[in-house]
Amino acid sequence: MHTSHIPIIKQASSCTQPSLLKPMALSYAQILELLQGQDDEWLFSRAQLATELEFQQQVYLRGIVEFSNHCRNHCHYCGLRSENRQVKRYRLSNEAILSAVDSIAALGLGTVVLQSGDDFSYSCKRISTLITEIKQRHNLAITLSLGDRKHHELENWREAGADRYLLKMETFDRALFARCRPKAHFDERISRLTHLKSLGFQTGSGIIIDLPGMTDVILARDIQCLTELQLDMLACGPFIAHAQTPFATSPNGSTLKSHRVSAILRLMNPGANIPATSSLDALEKGAREQALKRGCNVIMPSFTPTQVSADYSIYPGKNQQQHPAAERLNQVCQQIQSHGLLPSFSRGDSKRNQYVSRH
Ligand code: SF4
Repeated sequence: MHTSHIPIIKQASSCTQPSLLKPMALSYAQILELLQGQDDEWLFSRAQLATELEFQQQVYLRGIVEFSNHCRNHCHYCGLRSENRQVKRYRLSNEAILSAVDSIAALGLGTVVLQSGDDFSYSCKRISTLITEIKQRHNLAITLSLGDRKHHELENWREAGADRYLLKMETFDRALFARCRPKAHFDERISRLTHLKSLGFQTGSGIIIDLPGMTDVILARDIQCLTELQLDMLACGPFIAHAQTPFATSPNGSTLKSHRVSAILRLMNPGANIPATSSLDALEKGAREQALKRGCNVIMPSFTPTQVSADYSIYPGKNQQQHPAAERLNQVCQQIQSHGLLPSFSRGDSKRNQYVSRH
């Protein structure tokens, strides 16, 4: 199936217009009130307006390749945690990764996202080689989401041509972080974000809404922390209980709360790219599209080979569609259009840097 009949937006160059809007300065008390639903109508309409003013109805598409589901970590909420012996583990070869990237480029998308668990069997050199090869083959922006890697590795990958790096905290509350991510290093992870920025990566982080033990008080502070870091990409999605984790019996998160968070983040970070995450749809059909009307401006269809994509089971319901990638992309484009929005195949760089440099 082809996407050629779909009206798409491409950018002639990688130059992105700077953000048009001033960030809204919401106080901690105001964030808390909005999280508690005291003015949803105002919040969602303002977030929609801000998103339209910034992105003119465009929804940036990113092709994501989840190339390994091995992970050395133990996060209590995640199906890929190393203790989960029931998940079928896979690692894609360089050829398989490049072939998936080729399909992303062939379909005209402007960004590839390479994602994995914390899998150190992919050496620094191997990732650098992949980045170089992708850049030689295609005019694609490359986003990496490879977990907490060493400073020198990040430097190498930036030099090789990687454009963006996503490193999610999941919460900025030290105690909750320790309960959810045992053996992970809170301070190091935060310093990694600062380092990524200093290297010139468009840098992203994110949080999980309604992690077991998360309160609105914590969530309001998380929103402030994400905003203070002045990031280019902000990801938030609801917690979904995975049967093979210590949080198996905890209640799922709320899609409405997740929408509130993305809407608040949009007002406070008008130029940032905010994805409508697949976890929204896994929890409630249609919630991902609804998020595009509530502050989100990015969708990331998976291009992981269908033979393994369902094994990237961070949470139940992820990557359940087994149609060919082109068909899935076509579906996503139609969903976007059905909401009066336009699928954009451009690079969709962050507007944050230009905004900061001008002020
Ligand atoms: S959240 Fe990431 S780091 Fe933690 S177990 Fe899952 S894949 Fe590994």
